[in-house]
Amino acid sequence: PYDLLVVGAGPAGAAAAIYAARKGIRTGLVADRFGGQVMDTVGVENFISVKSTEGPKLVAGLEQHVLDYDVDLMNGQKARRLSRGELVEIELENGAVLKSRSVVLATGARWRELNVPGEQEYRGKGVAYCPHCDGPLFKGKSVAVVGGGNSGIEAAIDLAGIVAEVTVLEFGAELRADEVLQRKARSMGNIRIITQAQTTEVLGDGKRVTGLRYTERASGESRDLALAGIFVQIGLVPNTEWLKGDIGLSPQGEIEIGSRGETSVRGVFAAGDVTTVPFKQIVISMGSGATAALGAFDYLIREPVA
Ligand code: FAD
Repeated sequence: PYDLLVVGAGPAGAAAAIYAARKGIRTGLVADRFGGQVMDTVGVENFISVKSTEGPKLVAGLEQHVLDYDVDLMNGQKARRLSRGELVEIELENGAVLKSRSVVLATGARWRELNVPGEQEYRGKGVAYCPHCDGPLFKGKSVAVVGGGNSGIEAAIDLAGIVAEVTVLEFGAELRADEVLQRKARSMGNIRIITQAQTTEVLGDGKRVTGLRYTERASGESRDLALAGIFVQIGLVPNTEWLKGDIGLSPQGEIEIGSRGETSVRGVFAAGDVTTVPFKQIVISMGSGATAALGAFDYLIREPVA
């Protein structure tokens, strides 16, 4: 068996594998796609100590760093079930079962998409999902935030300090964000809120976003907004469908963790966007991957060898 098996090879999983391997323990890494969300990121400007880089470049460095250690990398493999007997067992979609004394779950998350025409075409060309990451690219321009929940209104407040104007589009009749956030948003001079608006299309000129089309749900009329950017904030979905019933999840489906990354299952730790850790960012995921691996190591040295 492995001493530590990491599931998911985004920044959190890669950091966990490196920290584990550096302890000299037998480490495995199951990756359905090395790099995770970072592979889909165009520019990265907040990876501390690197002023500016690109997602795939950062991933190449990450993979090189992992391969520098004695890590058993199983690429192109997806886990479909976790169970705990004497050891933790991870069943892969190809039917193989991996056994390990401890596990770090780092399967990440995905942004919920609008699923309207133009969204895929203009992804990274004006369609954005992360205000902390991409907000500064729209300095002095007009942008929209789709979604009036907490993350949407937080994004609008954040962006309002950088861009010229923010229009928030909410599908329902009322915003769903906390009252204090709504008050803050309404107090800012450059945030406009449109409720009962159903986004129907991302508009562009073939190169970049030029606007957005929405239907006024009250009147049924279609309207266009001229914009440089669209931030989609309708939810971040943790990749935990395969864990339901086997591990403690929050109401949002995130793996509940303690300060050492421990979960409700003995010997199973978790890190990164898939967990309840606040704020989902590359540096934060890497830090939590290191925490989970060290938490697992601490657990292993106290466990009798099976
Ligand atoms: P992920 O990166 O999501 O990696 C998890 C991996 O596990 C994925 O490869 C996934 O496919 C895999 N996986 C899922 N289920 C299974 C399974 N059952 N078995 C095996 N593998 C599985 N953050 C920044 O700090 N700066 C930025 O500029 C920035 N820009 C971003 C731009 C975009 C478009 C997006 C989408 C995100 C951006 N982020 C940015 C956020 C950042 O990418 C994430 O916070 C970070 O990648 C999370 O790392 P993670 O390792 O927890 O998860």
